[in-house]
Amino acid sequence: MAIFEHPSFDEHESVHSFYDPQTGLKALVAVHSTHLGPSAGGTRFWSYENSNLALRDVLRLSRGMSYKNAMAGLNLGGGKAVVMKPAGDYDRVALFTKFGEFINAIGGAYYTAEDVGMTTDDMRTIRTKTKFVAGLDEGDAASGDPSPITADGVFRCIKLAANKRELDLDGATVAVQGLGHVGYTVCRLLHEAGAKLTVTDINQHAVRDAAKEFGAKTVAPDEIYAQKADVFSPCALGAILNPETIGQLKVGVIAGAANNQLSVPEMGQQLQDRGILYCPDYVVNAGGIINIAGEIEGNYSPEWVEEKMVGVEKTLTEIIDLAADTGRTTDTIADEMARARIGR
Ligand code: NAD
Repeated sequence: MAIFEHPSFDEHESVHSFYDPQTGLKALVAVHSTHLGPSAGGTRFWSYENSNLALRDVLRLSRGMSYKNAMAGLNLGGGKAVVMKPAGDYDRVALFTKFGEFINAIGGAYYTAEDVGMTTDDMRTIRTKTKFVAGLDEGDAASGDPSPITADGVFRCIKLAANKRELDLDGATVAVQGLGHVGYTVCRLLHEAGAKLTVTDINQHAVRDAAKEFGAKTVAPDEIYAQKADVFSPCALGAILNPETIGQLKVGVIAGAANNQLSVPEMGQQLQDRGILYCPDYVVNAGGIINIAGEIEGNYSPEWVEEKMVGVEKTLTEIIDLAADTGRTTDTIADEMARARIGR
């Protein structure tokens, strides 16, 4: 498991590996940057075939958090943790209790929160061993579930980008991929704004609910890319903007919650060549971490969150305008702005 030679190594400040034979815990934590403050990012609990894949994930995701936190105007660096799901039986409480001890041992250079595969119960377990955890649903400064704020940010960015294309959301068509915690709320906000929805999910209950509640047209998961719409909002998986899907797209704007939407950076240029306005994912989906940042700073308030959300809109406007003026892609501009903010 070479770290410094790893293709995803990007001058990460530290990479920690933790193993506990009693509980079967195998965890990696990567601190990409603390230039702007202590690093923060969620813990992912996932079945990895081997530790190389876990390392790749933690290196990439922690860098992504540096970019996201910097672009959201937060005093936070970028970090991430992955816990490899044990193959056999395991005691979940014991596993995350031990993990909490490890997070505490890092000493505050990394704050954790919820990510894929984690529950609020797990966060409470971690909290029994460390204060370097946020996104809790109880306690003095608890910020609660970040998903509604993420959805609000996605909605604002869709509206802003649509307006840049001289489209009013009232009557616009939006294709939404993924009707989970974020995607379903995005649909509700779009519906209230008068947009017509086309939706998909592998969860048929969510699809039926969206059809009933929002009058959404429903399509099979692999049909979402070919839908003719004003906007495409990916709110399910990463790497969905790839050589197989890009040729199918018939939309003017892409703005969604999913992390790492571009399978490789070159996809940004291809989207621009096709006349599609791509809103960089880590700018669009920062609502959740903004909410969590308020908790880490200990001064959580809806007013503080709102100020940062307005900042996200300003940043996206700046990126879109700069791309229009220079002919460069929105993702390249966002990456450069983020790197400058973290002193790279
Ligand atoms: P979620 O797990 O609640 O929802 C994801 C949804 O996508 C589920 O309903 C799932 O069934 C669906 N899905 C999975 N595979 C699919 C496929 N092939 N086609 C269509 N639908 C599929 O997750 P979430 O919290 O709503 O987050 C959505 C995305 O946004 C994730 O990529 C997440 O990393 C990202 N994100 C979330 C937050 C947040 O605050 N929750 C913040 C930033 C980024």
